[in-house]
Amino acid sequence: MRHSRTQVPGFPVSTFTKRLHQLVGACLLASVCTLAPAQAPSPSPLDQDIAQIREQVRFVPEQALVQLQQMEPQARSAPAQTRAEFLSQLALTHRSLGKFDSALALADELHAYGLAQDNKIIIAKGLLTKAYVRSAMNERQLSHELAFEAEKLANTAGDLVLRVQATITAGQSYAEQGNYPVALNRLQSAVDLAHQVGSDKVPLASALNALTLLYTQMREYDKAWEALAETFEVSEALNSPGRMSIANNTEYGLAIDTRQYKRAMRALLNNLELTRKIGAKRMIATTLVNLSDINLKLHEFTTALRFANEAAAAAREARDDSIEATSRINAGQAYMGTGKVAEGKKSFALGMAYFEKTGDKPELQALLTEYGQALERVGDFQGAVEAYHRERAISNELFEAQRKKAMWELQEKYDTEKKKRQIESLSHENDVKSAELTARRLQQRIWWLLAVVFALAAVIVGLLYRKVRQANAQLEVKNLELKAQSSLDPLTSLYNRRHFQEYMRTHNQVERRGANGEDIVGALFLMDVDHFKHVNDTYGHAAGDAVLKMIAESLRVALRETDMIVRWGGEEFLAFLPAIPRNGVDEIARRILHSISSQPVPFQDHMIHVNVSVGFAPFPLAPGGTPLPWERAVNLVDMALYLAKAHGRNRAYGVRGFENFEQTSMEAIEQNLEQAWRAGFVDLTLVLGGAPDEPPPSNVVPLKSKSGN
Ligand code: GH3
Ligand code: MG
Ligand code: MG
Repeated sequence: MRHSRTQVPGFPVSTFTKRLHQLVGACLLASVCTLAPAQAPSPSPLDQDIAQIREQVRFVPEQALVQLQQMEPQARSAPAQTRAEFLSQLALTHRSLGKFDSALALADELHAYGLAQDNKIIIAKGLLTKAYVRSAMNERQLSHELAFEAEKLANTAGDLVLRVQATITAGQSYAEQGNYPVALNRLQSAVDLAHQVGSDKVPLASALNALTLLYTQMREYDKAWEALAETFEVSEALNSPGRMSIANNTEYGLAIDTRQYKRAMRALLNNLELTRKIGAKRMIATTLVNLSDINLKLHEFTTALRFANEAAAAAREARDDSIEATSRINAGQAYMGTGKVAEGKKSFALGMAYFEKTGDKPELQALLTEYGQALERVGDFQGAVEAYHRERAISNELFEAQRKKAMWELQEKYDTEKKKRQIESLSHENDVKSAELTARRLQQRIWWLLAVVFALAAVIVGLLYRKVRQANAQLEVKNLELKAQSSLDPLTSLYNRRHFQEYMRTHNQVERRGANGEDIVGALFLMDVDHFKHVNDTYGHAAGDAVLKMIAESLRVALRETDMIVRWGGEEFLAFLPAIPRNGVDEIARRILHSISSQPVPFQDHMIHVNVSVGFAPFPLAPGGTPLPWERAVNLVDMALYLAKAHGRNRAYGVRGFENFEQTSMEAIEQNLEQAWRAGFVDLTLVLGGAPDEPPPSNVVPLKSKSGN
């Protein structure tokens, strides 16, 4: 049996669309409804016309549209409230006719008009109108949001009737969301508010009706019956067929839910009378369908068939194929119930054709199940199996469609998540890249810093290196100076004794031949100033120093640059001549003696005359063929000097060579040179110095030992 579906067109108990429809209708049916605000105590004729049309919008929208179009020019230039109410009714008329696009455009226009006027009442009305249109379009969430926004605004707008309407709509929206406690709270406050409205009872009737529907939905049936009784009480007082029709519908739904079919039938019959009075063709058809349905439930098949056929005729008149199709189905059921299987099948087929044509598969599936059960009941098992197979095919199709939809949703979800992940990974990559960039920049900065540091360090090192090199060079000069100083005698600037010792340690003296074939030898001369103490004592120490300087200078002049002149002690000098002809040695001694004695030293008022005694010898000396070390050679020369001192000073004794050396020893000679000379072991020469002013003596006196003479 088709009870739920047959209730569907127009008078529902459980779908949002119808409830909202009913709410709007409740208001629109009133002779004076939302357009009786406090600020307009005496409505204009235009306001009253619109109020009249409001009743038709719900039940006969085609007529309402014609009238609204006629008054449109006048209404559009009317005062704001009138113009707003006109737009709202026009939008709701389009909605009732299923023209959602134009309905929405008009609702938007109303909303925009409210904003332009900065009028909260009009804005809230615009929002509510939009909520109703969206609801009819099955856009529930959007509808709820609009309803809540309208409620919030209406609570501050100062129009009580509008506030009741908005509160009811918000409550119904909460119920839609399954939030019954809040929905109940809202609808109860709507009833309380409606009581405050005063003479106008339409808002109260609306609120009570909504409350009854909610209780029914919540299965609080006792409270629902209570609220319904109040609804009837208020509605009857209004003396409005529309209002009564709405109350009867509500009763029908509640009775069906509580399985009180007789009561449900009574409500429907009342409603049939009311809708016929109003001339609402579609609602007449719907009521007739519901009457056929209730009779099917009560197994009153003949009556059911009658109502079904009447419903089909009314639906055709109302040009509603959907209601006509439902009538055919119900007629089919009725035929089956009276055993007229063939007619039943035919009628079923007619009804189902509509749903096949519109492609309403779920509806078709439910129908086929009912159809199969009906056939089974009348014993047409083959037909039942056929219906069953068709139902299965649709079920599979639906399942497949559902599966595809689920797959598609999954795919979409996957794609969305993939995209999200991609975006996340991109942003992560971005983060990494920017971190890398920062790191690279930092690195670059560090490199630059290091480069600068290195450059500075290089400059500093360069400067330091130059300084060190300069210091080293200076040090080298200083060292050289120092070395020179350490090897020179400060008074005379002649080499000192240490330098000579060092020199002789490394010097290797060799005999060689000169260009004329003569013997080239080295020679040692040791000189001591005669009676020098006397100079110091007579003229002072400074005079002595001056004398020493003069002697050094005279030696430099007398000798060559290659000869080494040494200050040997206090007033003793040594000269080493590395290369002279052997027979020129005596001549050198003579030159030394003369150069010093011929050079008086001026000191203050005096000319100081000095001469020296000299001991000398060629170097090396090789007594018995063995060369003497330089120290022993100097020692021997010192003994010769001593001889010169002893024999009258201002003279030079030279050791020329050794004879019969095998008969003596070097030690014996060194012990007493004079004795060795007289014994004929040593060959000496004597060179005499002249008087200070005398020219040098022309010859050198050779001294021969006695044995030698
Ligand atoms: P002789 O002829 O025997 O060599 O007699 P002399 O006076 O030269 O000998 P003596 O060794 O007795 O005296 C040497 C003196 O030379 C002693 C010392 O005071 C002096 N004398 C040594 N070195 C220096 C010097 O650098 N400057 C001066 N003014 N006198 C010095
Ligand atoms: Mg001396
Ligand atoms: Mg002396």
